[in-house]
Amino acid sequence: MKKVNRKKTILFIGIILLGISLFFFYNPFEKAIHQKKIALQPFSGFSTDLAQKIKDKLHQNYGAKVYILPERELPKNAFVNIKSPRYRADSLLRHLKNLKPDSVDHILGLCRHDISTTKRDRWGKVKEPKSRYTDWGVFGLGYRPGPSCVVSSFRLKRKPAQLFESRLLKVCIHEIGHNLGLKHCETPGCVMADAAEKLSTVDQVEAELCAKCKSICGL
Ligand SMILES: [Zn+2]
Ligand SMILES: [Zn+2]
Repeated sequence: MKKVNRKKTILFIGIILLGISLFFFYNPFEKAIHQKKIALQPFSGFSTDLAQKIKDKLHQNYGAKVYILPERELPKNAFVNIKSPRYRADSLLRHLKNLKPDSVDHILGLCRHDISTTKRDRWGKVKEPKSRYTDWGVFGLGYRPGPSCVVSSFRLKRKPAQLFESRLLKVCIHEIGHNLGLKHCETPGCVMADAAEKLSTVDQVEAELCAKCKSICGL
């Protein structure tokens, strides 16, 4: 009789341990990336053809379902003319967060116009020289992690067309990566490299995540 009880106890403990480990390896509350939905929000004259290419590329990279929303005008309250006419990327992120349909997980804004943000140091102070970094032109910006990101084609130089497109796709994959919680990555060739707003850095990376970044976001 005692032996049977001991067997039962061992079996019970075994089931509990298996349950705990399964919970940690497969968290049922975290939606698998393949089930995620991403909406693209083209702004003010962004090419339909390019939006379609971005849609295909994001699906290919993340396995997520990607939708293209109807075009909208850029919000006037995001416009500044400090150094040149630009739209504030941080304002656009907040605007996009409000535009995001509840049925999707992330929204990526697509602009032809120049976008900018304030570059800060690790203590949150505007980087020096302030005149340079208060309104700093960027390729893209995204919450990490978060619901929205934005990309501009303005600084990616339009010729040759093939190079321009590949840069744009890489920046889109990069910003969605931030939304999924990925930090900048030092693996050579990884699309999550810190571009530091240099086209040469964008040209050096592949249009995909490295194995480490893939595993972090469950791919
Ligand atoms: Zn980044
Ligand atoms: Zn990486």
